[in-house]
Order: sequence, then C-alpha cells, then structure tokens
Amino acid sequence: MISRIQTIQSTLPPKSALLVKSAANRFYLTGFRSSDGFVLISRERAEFFTDSRYIEAARAVVRHIDVSLSVNATTHIREWLAAEGIATLYIEAGATTVKSLATLREALDGVSVSEEDTFDRLITDLRCVKSAAELDAMRQAQKMTDDTFAYITERIAVGRTERDVMLDMEMFMRRLGSEGVAFDFIVVSGKNSSLPHGVPTDKAIERGDFITMDFGAVVNGYRSDMTRTVAVGAVSEEQRLVYDTVLAAQNAALAAIRAGKVCKDIDKVARDIIDRAGYGAYFGHGLGHSVGLDIHEMPAFNTRCDTVVKAGMVMTVEPGIYLEGKFGVRIEDMVVVTENGCDNLTKSPKELIIL
Ligand code: ZN
Ligand code: ZN
Repeated sequence: MISRIQTIQSTLPPKSALLVKSAANRFYLTGFRSSDGFVLISRERAEFFTDSRYIEAARAVVRHIDVSLSVNATTHIREWLAAEGIATLYIEAGATTVKSLATLREALDGVSVSEEDTFDRLITDLRCVKSAAELDAMRQAQKMTDDTFAYITERIAVGRTERDVMLDMEMFMRRLGSEGVAFDFIVVSGKNSSLPHGVPTDKAIERGDFITMDFGAVVNGYRSDMTRTVAVGAVSEEQRLVYDTVLAAQNAALAAIRAGKVCKDIDKVARDIIDRAGYGAYFGHGLGHSVGLDIHEMPAFNTRCDTVVKAGMVMTVEPGIYLEGKFGVRIEDMVVVTENGCDNLTKSPKELIIL
C-alpha cells in the first residue's frame, strides 16, 4: 500500500498535493473502509483524516501513513496545505462535484485548485493491475458466485418468480460469507430476458423461458461479476442458435486475450462472430469491463477503447444478444490477463443447461 502512495508522490510536481476523497480510492490507498474521510498527499508527506466514528479503528488499521481526527475538513485541508507550502492542489476531477470544487476554491486562498484529471488517470492505471492479495480476494468472490450458481440451478422451477430466485441467490451468497452484493442482481426470464439490465419482477418462470442471471459477491471490498443464461423445460431452434452464437463469440474473445492486445480488438473478435450470424444489431453494449473495488472500472472491451491490456488486469467477457419481445442471452466470465493468455476465474459450466 505504501508503494501506491509513493507512486503518487513521485508523480506530483514540486509544491503540489493531491486530495483523495472518493470511497474506493481512499480504501485503495489506506486499506481502511469508511463512509467519510480524505487523504492528503504531497511529495514528502501523506495523511489520512477521518471523523470520530472511525478514528479508533482507522488508527488500528492504517500504519503506513499518519492518521488524524477530522473535525472540520476544509480547515484541516487549508492548514495542511499551508504547513507543507503547497501552491497547487490536485483533486479527483472525475469524483468532485461542481459545488465541492467551488467550496474548496473559496476556502483555499492562494492555492490553485487544478481541474486536471492527471491523478484520476494515474490511480486508475494503478488499480487496474491487481496485486496477489487483490486477486486472491477476487478468486474467493468468484468461488462464492460459482457456488451460488450451482445452488440456484438446483432450485429454479416453473412457477418461481424472478424476485424470489434473486432473493434466494442473495441470501445463499451472503451465508457463504460475501460482504454484500457486488451490484443489484439481475434475474430476468422469458420476454424480460431481452432487457440487458432488467430488474427482477414478480413474473413467474414458465416452461420455455430463458433465465439470465447476472450477479457477484464481495470479498474485502473486491467484486466478482458473472452471468449465466439457463433454459427451463425446452428451447426453440432460435433460442439454441442464439445461445450457441453468444457462446462462440465469448469463447473466441477469451482465446484472443493476452497482454499486449488492444481492448477494442478483443471486442471486435466477439462482435464479428455475432455480426456474421446476423445478430449484430442486437448486441448493443461493450464486450466487457475491468472489475475490482468498483464493479465497472477502466479499461473496457468496447468498440472505442484503445488501452493495451496488461498482465494482472481483471476483465469480464460478456457478449449478449437481445431480441425485443422474445428473449435474450448473455454469458459472462471474469478473467485475469496473463502474458500468454488469460486465467479464467469463472468455473461454472457454459453449455446450455435445460432445467
Ligand atoms: Zn455482470
Ligand atoms: Zn459485467
């Protein structure tokens, strides 16, 4: 964790400092989770401020930088910058509201508050390549996700509602030890499955339905993300064709991933297969995204992203085809990029399961 702070320190120009307030970045730099607090970093010093609800626990956890009680954040920031002789303050441009920027500028007379996103990008670059400890947490989260899929496939049945299935999955996953849900689970069936981010309803599962489940666990703040589509009773020829097309697109993209590839080229591998099958217009979203402390991190596998993937990045691969008024299919795995390919953290089966 200290090396993360040191990387920021070595990038800061003289007489400048960085203010980090967003929850995920604060946790990334301190290892301490709280709803309130901020980190100030200059070339010589780094200090974490948090309020009275957290200060005792924070002092026990955060050993690599100073920890101080925050009573009035603006005053602490002003005094800290003055003591360090700071002329320019960088902020997280992507996570700062117009109002809080105005408040900072008003309070910090003589300090220039920069709107540049230099350090947003630097922290994104640091966060996207996972350490061994981060990968371990994500493997554990994905194991809980796989176990939840095995559990629920035994219990999906005609007559159960989408919401009931979703709640069953959530309860089971939390009993396994997940700290929460990685995001609101998606459980959609039949016609609802054509909604890529549909919300579970009281619709009962019927024979012939596809059921798409998109869900994930949280371990030490790190998330997993997986989607599986299963069928109940029987499937039509069209359902099978669409399923096989999505699976072929996913397998081709998985085979194409390795360090050094460009994100949008990976997206294209899957998109070309779906295009050639005649379903290009029905795959509206990107192929995948980075995952970590947030469910959607950068970079992303989509048609625009020029980022070169590096070993240690954790990415999802999730092609889908959505036929309005009929059904949809999405299959999503989470992989670690390696020098020669990728390590698939998702172990759940992908051949079409008909329950
Ligand atoms: Zn997902
Ligand atoms: Zn995803």
